[in-house]
Amino acid sequence: MSSRRRFLHQAAVSALAFSFVPLLSPARSRHTAPVLRVAIMGLGSYGTRVADAMLGCTRARLTGLISGTPAKLQAWRAKYTIPEKNCYNYQTFDQIKNNPDIDAVYVITPNALHHDQVIRVAAAGKHVICEKPMALNPTQAQEMIDACRKANVKLLVGYRMHFEPHTLEVIRQRQHGAFGKILFFQGLSGFRIGDPSQWRLNPQLSGGGSMMDIGIYSVNGARYMIGEDPIWVTAQETKTDPVRFKPGIEETIQFQMGFPGGAVASCLSTYNLNFLDKFFLDGADGFAELQPATNYGPIQGRTDKGPLNQPVVTHQTVQMDQMAGILLDGATPVVPVDGQEALKDLKIIEAIYAAAKTGNKVPVQL
Ligand code: NDP
Repeated sequence: MSSRRRFLHQAAVSALAFSFVPLLSPARSRHTAPVLRVAIMGLGSYGTRVADAMLGCTRARLTGLISGTPAKLQAWRAKYTIPEKNCYNYQTFDQIKNNPDIDAVYVITPNALHHDQVIRVAAAGKHVICEKPMALNPTQAQEMIDACRKANVKLLVGYRMHFEPHTLEVIRQRQHGAFGKILFFQGLSGFRIGDPSQWRLNPQLSGGGSMMDIGIYSVNGARYMIGEDPIWVTAQETKTDPVRFKPGIEETIQFQMGFPGGAVASCLSTYNLNFLDKFFLDGADGFAELQPATNYGPIQGRTDKGPLNQPVVTHQTVQMDQMAGILLDGATPVVPVDGQEALKDLKIIEAIYAAAKTGNKVPVQL
């Protein structure tokens, strides 16, 4: 082993114990730090996961609810001890501007609703956390960013992997040169989708198929694993089940991305294959692999030097505590989670759709 490689190896190993410091955050005692008071909008499957995870937070607390389903409001009020005055529906939630118990609203509704809901929350003067994909297209995303800027509130997007310890360790090692010049990334993102009546298979509510829902993880993951933004894409679509996957809902897309440093990414996004959740990063001097890479965990990984042994965390608990640091202290995450970060993903997805449709190599300008 060369002395440079030996140094990198030792640096990587010795840093393992200290590597889970996701934010460059001002030092603050847990007991004195203010708590982010959050209202969840959309009490569905992921909203439930976030609410339960927030029970374990030290810096974020569920204090409000926004729902179109009165029975859910009743059940959630009892479960999470939320006062009635902090509960709203989709007609009344603009009044949240008069509620001093709520600092931020977490929008966890179907994709097509994010644009209008985020803009209304911003107009009510509250910070916004919005689920991925932030919007249906780059135009909508830019309007949301502009609305938040105008209202002087912050806009974050629910990129939970940006706070996950194994992911951050790979990023840290890559930043320290442990893998040498990065040459290749492979991202596999997919699952076999169930219930044909769900909103994910309705283009009016989803804005697209597997790319918008799960393929976005490979798009975003390629960027944080390689540490660059792509400059071109190519893509090929295959549809084996046109009855289940209507026009506007792509089943499977394979796509490739080229990066300014010379790396290429080869990715697969699908609604019709299980067991696809893997990132592989290849450099001139080493590799990193995460599998599973983006599910709720435990995330597992290894590099050419051995297994990654980072702490196993509840992603949404860490995410919400770290987002409290961003919103309340102005802390800076290792990988951005703001509207601009989400806008980049939507521009890349737009280019992937164009490439799949035309068969052309499409340049990307972010
Ligand atoms: P669900 O269908 O489980 O929940 C969505 C909720 O939105 C509904 O329960 C409902 O809540 C509300 N809603 C409002 N209008 C509608 C409508 N027209 N149709 C359906 N629901 C409506 O979806 P998910 O929770 O799985 O997904 C919500 C968002 O979260 C999506 O953007 C998705 O991409 C994202 N997500 C992110 C994940 C991550 O890991 N970051 C994982 C899973 C999803 P109510 O009855 O209270 O109004």
